[in-house]
Formats: sequence, C-alpha cells, structure tokens
Amino acid sequence: MYDIAIIGAGVVGGMIADTLAKYDLKLCILEKESDVAMGATRANSAIVHAGFDAAEGSLKARMNVRGSEMMKDVTTRLGVKYNNNEALVVGFEHERDEVKAIYERGLANGVKGLKFLESEELHALEPHLNKDLTCALLATTSAIVCPYELCLAAVGNAMDNGAELMLDFEVSAIDKNGDAYTVKAADGRTVETKYIINSAGVYSDKVAAMTGDADFTITPRRGEYMLLDKECGNFTQRTIFHTPTKMGKGILVSPTVDGNLLLGPTATDIDDKDDTSTTAEGFATIFAKASDNVADIPFNKVITSFCGLRATGSTHDFIIKEKDGVVTLGGIESPGLSSAPAIAEYVEEILGGINALGAKKTSYKAERRPAHYFRELSMAEKNEIIKKNPAYGKIVCRCEGITEGEIVEALTTNPAAHDLDGVKRRTRSGMGRCQGGFCSPTVVELIAREHGIPFESVTKFGKGSIINYGKTKGDN
Ligand SMILES: Cc1cc2nc3c(=O)[nH]c(=O)nc-3n(C[C@H](O)[C@H](O)[C@H](O)COP(=O)(O)OP(=O)(O)OC[C@H]3O[C@@H](n4cnc5c(N)ncnc54)[C@H](O)[C@@H]3O)c2cc1C
Repeated sequence: MYDIAIIGAGVVGGMIADTLAKYDLKLCILEKESDVAMGATRANSAIVHAGFDAAEGSLKARMNVRGSEMMKDVTTRLGVKYNNNEALVVGFEHERDEVKAIYERGLANGVKGLKFLESEELHALEPHLNKDLTCALLATTSAIVCPYELCLAAVGNAMDNGAELMLDFEVSAIDKNGDAYTVKAADGRTVETKYIINSAGVYSDKVAAMTGDADFTITPRRGEYMLLDKECGNFTQRTIFHTPTKMGKGILVSPTVDGNLLLGPTATDIDDKDDTSTTAEGFATIFAKASDNVADIPFNKVITSFCGLRATGSTHDFIIKEKDGVVTLGGIESPGLSSAPAIAEYVEEILGGINALGAKKTSYKAERRPAHYFRELSMAEKNEIIKKNPAYGKIVCRCEGITEGEIVEALTTNPAAHDLDGVKRRTRSGMGRCQGGFCSPTVVELIAREHGIPFESVTKFGKGSIINYGKTKGDN
C-alpha cells in the first residue's frame, strides 16, 4: 500500500515528488512512457516566465509569479542550470498600447523588475532587433532553464529520498476500495494507494474521468520549434517575445541554457494527444514570425526541429483541486514549467490540509549533487577526475564533448537512462551539430554493457523503437 501515487512524471509530477519526498511517506510515480519528461516537459520554450501574461487574479498568475520567484533556489538545490537572461516583449508603434497593457498587467500580478522601454533603450540592449520596433516591456526576472534537466533532477532527488518510479505504467483504470484506490496499468500491473495525484498533462482529463471527474477537457495545442547551432547562441542575449495573441505568446527567439538559439513555438489546436510531428507549414510560420522581430537570423544553422503539445484546458486557467483524496492538476499549459515549484508547494498545502502528509523524514537530503559538466571544467580539474576514473578521459560525443564517464553516470544514477534518447537528455550526447551521427553506436554499446542486455535490444526511446536489427560483420 502506497501513501501517494503520482500519475505522470513530467516537471509538475517531478516537482511534486521532490517536494513530498521530505515526508515519511511511501511514494510512487507512475509514468506511461519508458522515461521521465517525455510529455510537454520534453519540448517547450524553456522560459521561466516572469508572470505578466496570465490574467490578473487567475491561479495561473499566482502560480507563475511564485514559481518564478522560487526557481533560482530550486535549481540551485537540485544542481540544475539556470540563467536569468531577462526577456523583452517587443512592439511596433501600432502595438504600443498592447505592450503598455501587458506592463500594467505584470504590475497588477505583482511581478518585480518590469520596465517599459522606448526605442533607443531597446535597440541598445539587443542589436539584432528589427529597427522598426519602437517599444518593449523588459522583464528582468525572466530566466531560462533546461526543462527536462529540471524534471530529471526532481525525480532523481525524490528517488534518492525513497520514491519509486514505475515506467511503462500506463494508468488505464482507477477503482475506489474503501479508503484507498487500486490503480491499474494497461499491462495488468496494479498499485494500491491512499491518495492519488493526477499530473498526466494532456491526458489529465482522461485520468480524471477514471476517478469520476468529467468537469474539464484538454485540447492538445501543437507547438513546433527550430533549434540552431551553438554558433548562434549569442544572437540575442534575452528572450524576445512578440506581443501575445489569444493563441499564446507567439514565436519567440531565445538562447538556451546550453548555448543554442531556439525559435518557435507555433500554436495549432489538434485532436491527437500524441501527434508531435513537425510540419513544413510550421517551419514557414516560424521563419516568417521570428524574422518580424529579429533581423538576419541564420536559418541555415538549424540543426534540428521538434514539437511539443500544450495541455490547453477548457477552463482557460490552471485546475488544481482535491476530492476524496485525489488531487487533480488539469490545464497545466504554459507557464506550467515556470509554475511547477509553486504548484508543488500548493499541492503540499492541499495534502497537509487533509492530513495526508504526516511527519517529516529525518534522513531527507534536499540538495542534489550538481550535474557534472565535464566540458566546462578546467584542464586541471578534468585531469583530477580522469585520474580517479579513466572513463572521463574518453570522449564519446565529439560535438558536445561528452565523455564515457558521464554516459555511464547517466546509466547508473536516479532516474537511470535505458535508451539512446534517455542518455541524450541526461548528457547532451547526440545533441550537437551531427545529431548523434558519430556517437550513437558507442552510446548503444555502453547502454548494452551497463544494463547487461544485447546490443540489438537497445532502443531509441523504448516501446520497440529498435535501432539495430543484427550484425552485418563480425561473429555472425
Ligand atoms: C510548445 C510549448 C511551449 C511551452 N513553453 C513554456 C515556457 O516557455 N515556459 C513555461 O513555463 N511553460 C511552457 N510550456 C508549458 C510546460 O511545458 C508545461 O506546462 C509543463 O511541461 C507541464 O508539465 P506536466 O508535468 O504537467 O506535463 P507533461 O510534461 O506532459 O507530463 C505529463 C506526464 O504524464 C504522463 N502520462 C499521461 N497519461 C498517463 C497515464 N495514463 N499513465 C501514466 N502516465 C501518464 C505522460 O507520459 C507525461 O510524461 C510550454 C509547453 C509547450 C507544449
């Protein structure tokens, strides 16, 4: 019998697990995919929004402002990269009133560090902006993080403190058994639990329906991106936003914490909750809209593209509620990443209010060892580590400078990677210019060696995504 089962290992479920891990609870995280951070958390803009977008008085605004304030401490504690790079919502003269209105809304939401800029101040900050832009809102508290790195660290910290992660556990039914619940997976596994947290992203409406709650629906809203080579990482220092529309914040241009340049996302409502394909139409939109605000973007430096699905809820606000021991989180679209620490804090408060938490653990460790960015160390520091473990002296991914030591670490620390994409998200091996062309065979060998499985059964992202079907040379 678990005390709490968290359904969904995205950044919201992950931050909740990390927050609850300090209590003396039997906690499990149930995830339908073969790794954590496989939903919206894997593919978004990675911005820690300051909090000026959401409507005044909304739960979204409250969670965003609080989450943004908490993020620096949370990322420091979990050893995750965070860059307070600031953001600009830029406007042409005909958009001046709208930019002013966003500034006013930000002030009403309690966002600190907002400034309204005139043309000269704006162009002095960012030399690549379209010269016709005449005003902007500067948000000095806006930042960037790596969303899946945050999720991995949060889940990892919860696991280091005793939480159990069950992968490939697709919740398909939930039955009430007196004071407890039986949560059933599609493959027949079951989990008994006293409390449930539904943080299933675009599927949170389906999971809510399993508990008898049909109060809201989720429409997936597709967002496509282009990612540019690290050569372009300094093209803008700040995140550059359009003035928003009713479909969202528009196409942004932003550096990433890892030094790339990100363009996107588009915004198209679709029916399929799993359709993360990219489209020629999406790229055309990104090309046109990003160029509206930022001139001469080097589009020939695009190294990859991807798509994420926003969980757009029918109530147009975050839904966070509790009934009969089930805490439901619905409509956690943007700014869900920014809000995740605050959402976790709020869920802790809700569970405390129904006496679901009990005493705190004496053995709890809040701090997580910072990720090893071997490539960023000095030569002396590198040599020191290589002396202790020669695997750090072997470069596997040439583009990103990732060593065998780092890959083995990703395969053996919580939550351990089991497939090629899992290693990629944890180490950046395969994320560079060649997109894994050179390092993938070696990474596959390391996965097979560390997990004691045949080379041919290593997958790209679980669920039968086979990479190698057999040997063409060698023993066979
Ligand atoms: C295009 C785009 C841009 C965005 N930009 C930003 C931004 O810049 N800043 C910001 O703050 N936010 C942004 N967001 C929003 C942010 O990404 C999300 O709010 C956040 O990632 C939501 O996290 P989550 O854990 O709720 O959902 P998810 O990350 O989707 O996680 C839900 C998990 O539940 C699992 N699951 C679903 N059904 C089941 C089931 N039946 N059984 C078990 N597991 C299940 C899924 O596999 C998934 O892993 C953006 C989102 C998108 C799509």
